[in-house]
Amino acid sequence: MFTLRTLLKPNINITLRTIATSRGTPNAVRIVEVGPRDGLQNEPKLLPASVKIALINQLSETGLRTIEATSFVSPKWVPQMGDNTEVLRGIQKRTGITYPVLTPNLKGFESALKAGATEVAVFGAASDSFSMKNINCTAAESIKRFQPVIEAAQRAEVKVRGYVSTVVGCPYEGAVKPSAVAKIVNALFSLGCYEISLGDTIGVGTPGSMRRMLDEVVKVVPPKKLAVHCHDTYGQALANILVSLEYGISVVDSSVSGLGGCPYARGASGNVATEDVVYMLHGMGIETGVDLEKLIAVGRYICNELGRPSESKVNRAWKGATPQKIKENC
Ligand SMILES: [Zn+2]
Repeated sequence: MFTLRTLLKPNINITLRTIATSRGTPNAVRIVEVGPRDGLQNEPKLLPASVKIALINQLSETGLRTIEATSFVSPKWVPQMGDNTEVLRGIQKRTGITYPVLTPNLKGFESALKAGATEVAVFGAASDSFSMKNINCTAAESIKRFQPVIEAAQRAEVKVRGYVSTVVGCPYEGAVKPSAVAKIVNALFSLGCYEISLGDTIGVGTPGSMRRMLDEVVKVVPPKKLAVHCHDTYGQALANILVSLEYGISVVDSSVSGLGGCPYARGASGNVATEDVVYMLHGMGIETGVDLEKLIAVGRYICNELGRPSESKVNRAWKGATPQKIKENC
């Protein structure tokens, strides 16, 4: 027989959970725009440096504070980033905006420093198979490779961000153990990375697997030092970001118009679109400092250059809408 107590019990639990999780949700989120690097690097069409520079300069006008500019990786591996020095030197660096670059090894770091980098990023994976295919060493070995890069960066007073790929799923191993993620996140944090970006590289995560992963990760690194990097292969990216916000994470990686993909995971779609993330956050009353109209225009510019449609639902929905109409919709 149902009593008032049994009927109320589940609701009480739900209410408590809502209170607990909403407490952690931040008032402001910093978006790390990864389109010019992570996005373009995985686009089949090669763009000239002048277009990349124009893209970054336009993004700098939208209110974004962190724009990942390029990657100092061998052009043999990533031909799309072969113009890294030209791009980093060519952009108009605005005060208050950071332009991090990816530096997988010491050689890359030295070139980046010469080109004027003030922040760099290193990347590892939570799964050994993905790490082997991607950077040709196991997850544990990759940490050893980062050490000289991080030490050199510290000597040069350059901030280092850490990326961890495949935090919930790997194209070769399937589900990834949350404890394996926590281990590599902890290692990067202990080495001196100021922030660790948790990447669902192939976009297979759900709010369920994100929670299981975050439950372990926040035990070793505080949420304020974490970012999330979600791909939208299964249409779960915004839901996964929402879950991460509830854990107190306030840094979100995204790519204008959802540029990109993942060369090591067939069928994986691009990063979550920055326009869609901004729309959701503003709708929740969370500040980003980003002007959505301007961002939509930048998304249209780069999609036009690439000759492909925007992956942003917001951008598509507002096709042809006047700026005034966009404001009303917000
Ligand atoms: Zn990505």
